[in-house]
Amino acid sequence: MIKLEHIRPHALKVGYVDWRLGNTCNYKCSYCPPYENSGSFPWIDIDTNIKTQNIIIEGYRAMGKSTSFAYTGGEPTVYKHFPQLLENGKNQGAFNWVYTNGSRTVRYWSDIKDVLDMACISYHAEYDNADHIIEVVEAIKKDVFLSVNVVMHPLQLDKCFSFLDKFNAAHPEVTLDTKIVRVMHGDPLHPDYTPESVEKVLAYKQNLNTRPRQTVNKPFLGKSVTMKLTEPGQEPRSISCQEEILKGLNGFNDFNDWECYIGVESLMIDFDGKVYKGYCQMDGSIGTIPNFEVPKEPVICHYGDKRCTCNLDFATTKYSTPNKTFYFKQI
Ligand code: SF4
Ligand code: SF4
Repeated sequence: MIKLEHIRPHALKVGYVDWRLGNTCNYKCSYCPPYENSGSFPWIDIDTNIKTQNIIIEGYRAMGKSTSFAYTGGEPTVYKHFPQLLENGKNQGAFNWVYTNGSRTVRYWSDIKDVLDMACISYHAEYDNADHIIEVVEAIKKDVFLSVNVVMHPLQLDKCFSFLDKFNAAHPEVTLDTKIVRVMHGDPLHPDYTPESVEKVLAYKQNLNTRPRQTVNKPFLGKSVTMKLTEPGQEPRSISCQEEILKGLNGFNDFNDWECYIGVESLMIDFDGKVYKGYCQMDGSIGTIPNFEVPKEPVICHYGDKRCTCNLDFATTKYSTPNKTFYFKQI
């Protein structure tokens, strides 16, 4: 049997939920697809969302796990009930992460810092809020794990590099990264990059790897995107989910007929309230909030030659047997 397992043991004790709260955003970045910022899916009422959160927390608790919610959008902090949702989750021991443009006031962030565990803040040069992000980070960095992502707009690179330098000087211990812009989040690079500008961005990124780490008085329960691969007769080795996916057809990412714990380990809630076992949407939706249950059984992957194409899906426990027949392991 070949096994693909988590490197950090805590990952088996957490159910990870990616929750697309709504596609309304106060920004309209030129590289963002309308699907993610047009507001075409109205915010869902707070009672339904609280009920949904409770079902998930209970479902994972019944399996001996805690729950980690990652809220995305759109801009999740535009949802007026967002603090209430964080509080309800935190009161039941859940972990709250948000993917945000960081534009809410320093006061807003200070008010939610005790019920928030992690914030991934993106800097968008078209809405230059460099000083504001630096102030927000100052206000919450002792209480919230932070990761700041600079979206390297090819036509505003000077502004992006200036933000990187300024942020680096102000908060050297906070994770900082650069992100190359792709056409509407797809594969091709934004046409306004030159080979030199891409090289400059990648070189800056390399240097960021050596920075010290932020210390926060909370446990870090992130899902690692490195997995342990054990093949018969060989020593286990680490593999990077992202690298294997990028290798495409030559990557270790063909899991057709494997037993996969998607759903048991993670869920995805889409803008329209449909719940899936993961981004791959294996076996389709398992219901619409709040009418669904947390899956207790693994699936047999039957994506044929489509393969596992997303970091978070890849980073799910999977088992095969030499002849790729069903093998069930109780966790
Ligand atoms: S802040 Fe994020 S969600 Fe909003 S428009 Fe920009 S990329 Fe899209
Ligand atoms: S595509 Fe989905 S079901 Fe198949 S291995 Fe990846 S996460 Fe599991």
